Amino acid sequence: MKEIQQSQKHIKDLALSLGADVVGFCKLPTPTALCPDLPYGISIAVKLSDAVLQTIDSAPTFVYFQHYRTANALLDQIAFRIAREIEKLGFSAMPIAASQSQGKENPYRGVIPHKTVASLSGLGFVGKSGLFLTESYGSKVRFATILTDMPVQAELPVMQNGCGDCTICAKACPAGAIFGEKPLTSGERNIDPEKCSKYMKEHFQDIGRGSVCGVCIKVCPKNKLN
Ligand code: SF4
Ligand code: SF4
Repeated sequence: MKEIQQSQKHIKDLALSLGADVVGFCKLPTPTALCPDLPYGISIAVKLSDAVLQTIDSAPTFVYFQHYRTANALLDQIAFRIAREIEKLGFSAMPIAASQSQGKENPYRGVIPHKTVASLSGLGFVGKSGLFLTESYGSKVRFATILTDMPVQAELPVMQNGCGDCTICAKACPAGAIFGEKPLTSGERNIDPEKCSKYMKEHFQDIGRGSVCGVCIKVCPKNKLN
């Protein structure tokens, strides 16, 4: 038990020192098809810049798109280095990139949902926006995941959805992609990712690959200004 706590603290300290703002640990309820021998999950998040989010009004901005990509790159670096450190401790680990896709066959689902691991780690809940809302920063975060066979313990209880009667994000979404409902089960989609992506591609192709908007993040009242 003491060894588990020590190695978990070591990995958490490393993640924070590399730039993560939120770190959580969990045991997965069922093994992933991708790597059934890695039953534990580590969730890491970095907070997005308040100043950058302030540039978003009713449409995405270049500065947000570039910031989004930089946050993903930082997360991928942190996850990569944590996985290497876990290997040095004698275990296996697989970093899962911040931005995932399984190609044309399954463009809107990654190999494992970061939100599921974050949720099991007690870091927050999936809001009606489909975004993951953390206790500290609301949805102003991006996530990556590390799967491992290094035993870890969840430090926080799983949080219930805290959106209440709010439907601000659903009303603000320019694509009409947000249903305005809480997800009923872990992993259930409560937005239409295709609608969101198509809207972006049709209207803002010049800004990026067409899958970032930021309006649902910007309007959420749970997002505390630092
Ligand atoms: S990113 Fe934009 S288009 Fe997509 S769900 Fe959020 S508000 Fe709607
Ligand atoms: S805007 Fe309101 S309903 Fe949407 S995620 Fe935030 S708190 Fe939940």
